[in-house]
Amino acid sequence: MNRREFSKCVLAAGAGLGVNVTSAGETSGDYYHEPGKKLPIRKFDVVVAGAGTAGVVTALAAARQGARTALIEVKGYPGGTVTEGGTALHSFYNLWKAFDVERRQVVRGIPQEIIDRLMKVGACSGHAEMSKGYNYDSVCTCIDTELYKLVTFEMLVEAGVHVFVNTMLVGAVMDGARIRGAVVESRSGREAFYGKCFVDCTAYGDLAAYAGASFTEPNDYPVVNSIGVANVSVEKLYDYLNRHDAVTQLARGMRSGQDNQIVRIQGSLANVSRDFHEEARKIGMSMVTTTVHDNYWMFIKLNFKMPVSPTNRDAVTRAELELRQRQYRAVELFRKYVPGCEKAFMARTSPKLCIRRGRLIQCDYDITHEDVIEGRHFDDEVMVYGFHDSAPHLQVKDGGTYGFPYKAQRVAGIENLLAAGMLITSDHRAHMSTRNTVCCMGQGQGAGTAAALCAAKKCGTRDLRYGELRDALNKGGVYFEA
Ligand SMILES: Cc1cc2nc3c(=O)[nH]c(=O)nc-3n(C[C@H](O)[C@H](O)[C@H](O)COP(=O)(O)OP(=O)(O)OC[C@H]3O[C@@H](n4cnc5c(N)ncnc54)[C@H](O)[C@@H]3O)c2cc1C
Repeated sequence: MNRREFSKCVLAAGAGLGVNVTSAGETSGDYYHEPGKKLPIRKFDVVVAGAGTAGVVTALAAARQGARTALIEVKGYPGGTVTEGGTALHSFYNLWKAFDVERRQVVRGIPQEIIDRLMKVGACSGHAEMSKGYNYDSVCTCIDTELYKLVTFEMLVEAGVHVFVNTMLVGAVMDGARIRGAVVESRSGREAFYGKCFVDCTAYGDLAAYAGASFTEPNDYPVVNSIGVANVSVEKLYDYLNRHDAVTQLARGMRSGQDNQIVRIQGSLANVSRDFHEEARKIGMSMVTTTVHDNYWMFIKLNFKMPVSPTNRDAVTRAELELRQRQYRAVELFRKYVPGCEKAFMARTSPKLCIRRGRLIQCDYDITHEDVIEGRHFDDEVMVYGFHDSAPHLQVKDGGTYGFPYKAQRVAGIENLLAAGMLITSDHRAHMSTRNTVCCMGQGQGAGTAAALCAAKKCGTRDLRYGELRDALNKGGVYFEA
């Protein structure tokens, strides 16, 4: 059966045409009392939950400080949303175009090391300068999502991290306000990973929630999925959008071994075709692509607003089907409207829907919009950052940086738990900066380094001397200029 016949067949059978998940109904009201179990204990210095954007860097930083480090990941690979959401990293550089300030790289250290390793295997565009769109930002660093998983996996193993993939964090063993262990579940059974210090990098704050920390669930973003589309022509897409004066973002960098190629493109479908725009609107689709290979691109944004928080399993099940139906329709739209995409097909999907905010965990300090925009600095910084997702409308004052304080990573009420990634910062506008991939990675280096020092000193996260943390971060190549 060829592709066209298959399409007709599945359309007739209902694919993408409103097949719905049957409600599982209410629970019965009865309870099963699970018998207590004896769990085998493994002992570590630092336990990191979640091997995503922040978690990979956290575990690398902790292991490089000499900590015996465990990394728990429910999927079969590290990478997280950086390989499943936007698939590009904004932004290693500070803002500079708006203010004529000197161009400089404000996130360095381990995040840059990952880029260096990706470049060696042709899995990264390099820091490709935006020539259109995000006018006051600087670069977009596009990645090969599959090689990102492999490269980071190898780096973790090389650093001596004990990587546990296909392993889900399912609970916490508490001793008052201290976590003694993370309870994990895999096909090898249920175990307790004891540790001296813990870092929650699960994006949803699972470990913090199990430990009894306070959190909110704002449900203020749509859920999204991204797809890898193959058999496409990036040049033809550009020509098509350009002909309609519809190119809104453009960056050129390394693609399939050649420099100065289009690696990120965004178009306004409203300019292109009313029908295309109308059909795309129905499935929450906007035309944003990143690529590091000819004939392939990633990331069509397919937004779907869930009525309840994405921690609700049954609502997520419905959303997962909805997003897959939208993915199918999105590729059909490409095939129908975009020259060079006549034989496009869906080559890859995210294993699960992506979110921008799930649970937000309460920490000792909550970074505010003013902290970001005013470029405020703190006396306990673990990194500095300068990018805002809403550039050019919102940007850090004078093209400078703001500081990321250590206290913003200490989970309130828990003695030995830090957090890194999109699970912190409750202010919606501040979060549009702190959740960015490169900020999450930088936070990881801060949290992992601090956790290892706390474990070595056998102290709580609030008892760590900042001078020691700063020295270790300086040695790790972290940049601190305002
Ligand atoms: C569609 C979309 C587009 C985006 N576009 C951009 C962009 O262009 N540029 C940019 O800079 N940022 C972008 N972002 C934001 C950015 O990608 C995320 O904020 C960031 O990657 C989050 O990193 P994280 O480490 O907090 O979470 P993740 O990278 O999601 O890592 C969490 C990890 O924890 C694991 N995990 C979760 N729960 C458990 C558990 N119970 N047990 C074991 N493992 C668990 C997950 O499997 C995952 O690997 C985008 C986000 C989305 C959703």
